[in-house]
Amino acid sequence: MEHDFDPEDFEPEDREPPLRVLPPLLLLSTETACWKCGRPMKAVALAAHALEEDGERVGDVDDTSDMLILRGVSGMPDEVLKELVRRNPSYGKRYSGTAADSYFANNCDCGTFIGDFYLHAEPGGAFFPTSETEAGTIIVEYLPSQEPVEIHGTWGAGVGDFILAHANVKRQP
Ligand SMILES: [Zn+2]
Repeated sequence: MEHDFDPEDFEPEDREPPLRVLPPLLLLSTETACWKCGRPMKAVALAAHALEEDGERVGDVDDTSDMLILRGVSGMPDEVLKELVRRNPSYGKRYSGTAADSYFANNCDCGTFIGDFYLHAEPGGAFFPTSETEAGTIIVEYLPSQEPVEIHGTWGAGVGDFILAHANVKRQP
């Protein structure tokens, strides 16, 4: 597994061309603890088996045992955002001082902004499980998307196969 993350990978890249995320689009949701108040909170993220970045294919649509997890998302279609908010009402665009820009993130009810770095890059983070038990708390849903979706953001690889092997995967009927 690749666990070397660069914090800069979590900065929004509005000026970059969007990722062309190939269907199906996957929605990850789980419960985690707010790093500030410690209370449980929902966390959501998007993923896909494959995408195109600058015209280059990453991943494999036919390899449903692995996925790329999107992060630092600063732009997405409204219908996709609606699905994320439906599962986590706190999900929304927040201004990030370090990035001097705003991007979509999970937020705790106490008002704390839960950045993607905490959720995706810290071992034991909501989307960086270090045990089968942690991975088992993640729900993976297949969104009924037939077309590629343009999303501004970056992606990470390395834990997708581990999550899919142990998560509660709800494939489309
Ligand atoms: Zn909190």
